[in-house]
Amino acid sequence: MRGGTVRTPDGLRAADVAVSAGTVAAVQPGAGPGAVEVDARGLLVLPGGVDAHVHSRDPGFPEKEDFTSLTAAAAAGGITTVVDMPNTVPAVESAAVFQDKAEQASSRAVVDFALWGLLGGSTSAEDVDGLLDAGAVGLKAFLGYAIRRSNRQVIYQPGADDADLEPPPDYGTVARLAPDLARRGAPLSAHCEDPGVLRAFERPLERYADLLAARPALAEAIAIAALGVVSQRTGLDVHVVHLSSALGLAAARDAGRAGARIVLETCPQYLWLTEEDAERLGPVAKMYPAIRTAADRAALREALRAGGIHRVGTDHAPHTDEEKSGRSLDGALPGSPGVETLYVSCLELARRFGDVAAAARWVAEGPARTLGLYPRKGAVQPGADADLVLVDPEAETVVSSASMHSRQRHGALEGQRFGFAVRAVYSRGELVARDGEPVGQPGRGRLVRPAR
Ligand SMILES: [Zn+2]
Repeated sequence: MRGGTVRTPDGLRAADVAVSAGTVAAVQPGAGPGAVEVDARGLLVLPGGVDAHVHSRDPGFPEKEDFTSLTAAAAAGGITTVVDMPNTVPAVESAAVFQDKAEQASSRAVVDFALWGLLGGSTSAEDVDGLLDAGAVGLKAFLGYAIRRSNRQVIYQPGADDADLEPPPDYGTVARLAPDLARRGAPLSAHCEDPGVLRAFERPLERYADLLAARPALAEAIAIAALGVVSQRTGLDVHVVHLSSALGLAAARDAGRAGARIVLETCPQYLWLTEEDAERLGPVAKMYPAIRTAADRAALREALRAGGIHRVGTDHAPHTDEEKSGRSLDGALPGSPGVETLYVSCLELARRFGDVAAAARWVAEGPARTLGLYPRKGAVQPGADADLVLVDPEAETVVSSASMHSRQRHGALEGQRFGFAVRAVYSRGELVARDGEPVGQPGRGRLVRPAR
C-alpha cells in the first residue's frame, strides 16, 4: 500500500506498507513490491480494530445476530478482530463448548475472532484450565446473572425460587478462582454492577430517570472496589468492561493505587451520549450499565485522553426490533449494536483531543495488548497480521440504520456525524470491506489465541 500516512507503534508517518502472505513484510518509505498494490495517498493506514467486547448471539439467537452478520458489520467498520462474550447458548463453560463454538464461528466469520470463557457460579479450577488451554483470552463473570440449568443459558434477573436456575457467580466465586487465573496470567473481565445494590434500588422503569435510579453508579463502584481487593490479594488481572461512571472510575483509581491490577474498558455510547440523549432515543438506548450524566461522560473522556482507560470496546449487543423499539422502556431488552461505528467514533473523539492516532491505541493496540494478542493484532509493523484499515480523514460518516450490517440496525449512535470514512479494510492482506460494504467471504475468519 503506497503513499499513506501509517499509524506505526512509533506514531503517524508517511510510509508504504508491503504485505506478503497475509502479514506485514515492511513499513518504510518505498517499501518495495508487496503482494497487495493499493494507492493510499491521502488516507490514514491504521491497524485493524480489535473489539474486545461483542455479543455475537451465535449459537443461540440467530434472530438477533450470527457470526456472519456480526463480522460483516465489523469488517465494514474497520474491525478485523472481534472478541466474543461467552453468554451464547450453551454458555462457554468448558473446553468442549469452546471448541464447538470456535468451529461454528470459523465456518461463518468474515474476520478473525477470539473468545471469552465463562466464569459461572459452579465453575471449577479444571474448567478454568480447560478453557484457557482451548484458547480463551480470559474468563468473564456476569455478577448477578444466573444460568438456566436446562439449556445452560446466562439470564438476567432470575426469579429467586426457580429450581432450574443455578446461582450467579459472586465475589466468593471470583476469590476462589482468582489464583487459578492469576497463575495462568489470564484476565477476568467482569460486568461490574453489584447485584445487592441493584436489588435495593429496583423499580418500574417508566422514564429514563427511573433507569438511572434503578442502576446507580454506586453499584458499579462497589463491584469494582470488591474485585479490586481480590486482585490485590491474588494478583488477578481484572478487566472492568463497559465502565460507565465517574464513581466507577474513581473506585478503579483507588484500587489501582492500593495495588490492584485493573484494566479499564469503556464504550462509545458512554463517551458520546448522556441521559438527555437516552431519554430522546428511548428503548434503543436502554443498556446495562446505563448511559449516565454529562459529568460522567466528561470524566470518562478525560480519563481516556490521559491514558487512564486502556481500551474502547462496544458491548455490541443486538436484539430484534420487537425486543427493542417495539416495547416500553421497562419491557425492552438492554443492549445496542455498535461494532460498525467503533473506529470512526473514536477517530472523531481522538481528533477533538488533538491526536488522531490515539484512536488506534484505544481500539487496536490497547485491546490487543490487554488480551495477549499483540503484536500479531493491533500493530502495523513487520511480522504482524496485515489487518489494515484505510481511512479518509476528509470524508464524513453519518450513522444511519439504513447503512448498517448488523442484524439489528438501530444503534444508540444513530444520527451522529463523525468526520472520517472507512475506505478499505484488509484482514490478513485480503480485502474484506470497501467503502462501508463488506466483501469478505464467510468462513475465512480464524480463531486467534492469546500468546501468554
Ligand atoms: Zn456485554
